[in-house]
Amino acid sequence: MSTNKIDGKQIAGLVTEKVKERVENLKSKGVVPGLAVILVGSNPASQTYVNNKAKTCERLGMYSVLIELDEDISEDELLKNVEALNQDDKIHGILVQLPLPSQINEDRVIATISPLKDVDGFHPENVGKMMIGQQSFLPCTPFGVMKLLEYSDVEIAGKHAVIIGRSNIVGKPMGQLLLQKDATVTYCHSRTKDLHSFTKQADILVVATGRAKMIDASYIKEGAVVIDVGINRDENNKLCGDVDFASAQEVASKITPVPGGVGPMTIAMLMENTCLAAENTLTNK
Ligand code: NDP
Repeated sequence: MSTNKIDGKQIAGLVTEKVKERVENLKSKGVVPGLAVILVGSNPASQTYVNNKAKTCERLGMYSVLIELDEDISEDELLKNVEALNQDDKIHGILVQLPLPSQINEDRVIATISPLKDVDGFHPENVGKMMIGQQSFLPCTPFGVMKLLEYSDVEIAGKHAVIIGRSNIVGKPMGQLLLQKDATVTYCHSRTKDLHSFTKQADILVVATGRAKMIDASYIKEGAVVIDVGINRDENNKLCGDVDFASAQEVASKITPVPGGVGPMTIAMLMENTCLAAENTLTNK
């Protein structure tokens, strides 16, 4: 099988070029799209993500603010920061980098972000709108996967999409978005019995488990499209996905690498969502 590597970096570049044009158009109307990122504590992976987001904002001519808070901050203090950003006209998108320390209730924080500025698409109002197919902010990672499939000319309607993982930020919305594009969707998770029997039926296999290289060729149907959402470190501390790329590419028709697959798309979609939030302030006036 000759495998086609899906180049997420290149596709993210194409997506952000379009965002850049929209940013310039907004600026000509006196609006600079602004993103605020709240980082609690000093998790090195979170710091890397946050820095990449700020750099991309800068490259696209957007305004960005990073609010760094102590690991031991109280929930009330964090909520006050979110509420201040809700009121700040220069800020169109608010992102609270997850995970949060244990003294803070993530659900409460997400519910405090104004749904109009919820560019991560995690607020229950946006999740509900997505479920019923109304316009909303879509969660960046599954939204990015949909763009990867679109730009890679992957047919979705009528195909069997199998998602491994059912988190609120990746697995669940991933299935919804594929369903909206007329895929037949199966969700698998840690309690699924005989995972192979499901994954072997997948025309499109999306893996989001957080288990390094757990999916090898034996799980994949010849010619399937494989999307690897995972970000892990292997035994040599090198970045790797949830899919064993070397083995999987022998059977997949198209496959995303890690790094350089889904990761860059997540950031690109965050930029698109922030731009959309800024555009909405003009149309809602
Ligand atoms: P979670 O830990 O929240 O969810 C993992 C899911 O995988 C759960 O539903 C779990 O099942 C399932 N799972 C775990 N082990 C197995 C197994 N052995 N067999 C079948 N299913 C299993 O992770 P996230 O959804 O937040 O993230 C998944 C991965 O994606 C991580 O590697 C994360 O780093 C990465 N990620 C990458 C992003 C990007 O931009 N590329 C963005 C966000 C995440 P159960 O529900 O039963 O526990």
